[in-house]
Amino acid sequence: MPLPSDSPALDTFGRALRSLRISVTDRCNLRCRYCMPLEDYAWLPGEQTLSPEEIARLAEVFTAVGANRVRLTGGEPLLRRELPDIVRRLAANPAIEDLAITTNGVLLAAQAQTLREAGLGRVTVSLDTLRPDRFAVITRRDELDRVLEGIAAARAGGFSPLKLDAVIMRGVNDDELPDLIEFGKRTQAEVRFIEYMDVGGAIEWSPQRVVSRAEILSALAARYGSVTPLAEGGSAPAERFRLPDGTVFGVIASTTTPFCRACDRSRLTADGMWFLCLYATHGVDLRGPLRSGATAAELAAQIAAVWRARADRGAELRLAQRDRGVFVPLEQLRRDPHLEMHTRGG
Ligand code: SF4
Repeated sequence: MPLPSDSPALDTFGRALRSLRISVTDRCNLRCRYCMPLEDYAWLPGEQTLSPEEIARLAEVFTAVGANRVRLTGGEPLLRRELPDIVRRLAANPAIEDLAITTNGVLLAAQAQTLREAGLGRVTVSLDTLRPDRFAVITRRDELDRVLEGIAAARAGGFSPLKLDAVIMRGVNDDELPDLIEFGKRTQAEVRFIEYMDVGGAIEWSPQRVVSRAEILSALAARYGSVTPLAEGGSAPAERFRLPDGTVFGVIASTTTPFCRACDRSRLTADGMWFLCLYATHGVDLRGPLRSGATAAELAAQIAAVWRARADRGAELRLAQRDRGVFVPLEQLRRDPHLEMHTRGG
C-alpha cells in the first residue's frame, strides 16, 4: 500500500479523505417523501451488488488511503441479509476507528443485539415525527411503533451515543421540535435536526419547504431559553448546541449553511460506484477493477489520485444558484439510479 492511514490523501482544498459511507443496498422499506416519494424505482441489478468480502476489501483499500470512519447506509441497510457479516468484517479492520450505521429503525429491534455482537459501534435512527398519522404521511408506511421499538432495542443493546435524525419540513413536522427534544431526553439520545435538502430524489423539494437552522434555533430558544453553541470545529456535519438544562442537540444545515470546506466524506454505492460528493453527477467505478483483478495497491493509487483531484463543493454551489429548484428531474433519475440519494446513502 502506498500510503499509511495516518497520512490521508488531501484534495485540492486540503480536505483529507477520512469518512466513507458505504451503501449496502439501494432497497428501502419506507417511502419518505423527502427521499423516495415514488412507490417504485429503477433498482440496481442484484448481480452487481458488492459481496461482503468485496466491501471489506475495498474498505481496506480506503483505509490505506486515509479513511478511518465508516458509516453503513442504504436504502435501508438492515434489509441486507448479510449485514452482520459485513459488520464483522469491517470491525476486524483496525484502521476503522468508528463503525456506525444509519437506519430507519423498522427492523432494528430484531437485529440490534446481533449487530452489536458483530462489532457495530454506533447507531443513528431516522425519526422525523412522533405522531403515527404523520409518520404514515411522511413515509407512506404505518411503522412508527416498530421504529420506536428499534430505538428502545438499540438503547438496551448499549449503543451509545445514540442519535436520532429528523428532517424538518415546513408545514409537515416543524411544530414537533420540542416533542423530539423531549423524546431524545427520555431515550438518552441526541436529536439532530436536518434541513430539507434538494439532493437527487427529493423531487418534492422547494425552498419554501426548508426550515432553516436559524428558524430551528429560534423556535427552540423560544421554548427553552438560551441556546448555546458548543465550540467543536472538525468535519462533523452537525453543529451542536446546548439548552439551559444541559440537553445537547445538533443541527445539520446543509441547505442554508453548507459545510463543504471541511468535508472529508465520500460515498460508495452498493454496486461499487464511488461518489466524491452528495451532489456529484458522476462516480468512479471501483467494482470493475476490483473484479478484474486489480491489486490493493493499484486500487489505492487510483483512489488517492481521484481524491487529490477532488474539487467538489456541491452544497455551496447549490446555495449560490438563483431560482433554486429540484436538483435532478424525474426523467433523469429514472435513467440513472446512481443519482438518487437512496442509492448513494444520503
Ligand atoms: S455537498 Fe458535497 S462537498 Fe459539500 S458537504 Fe456535502 S458531500 Fe461534502
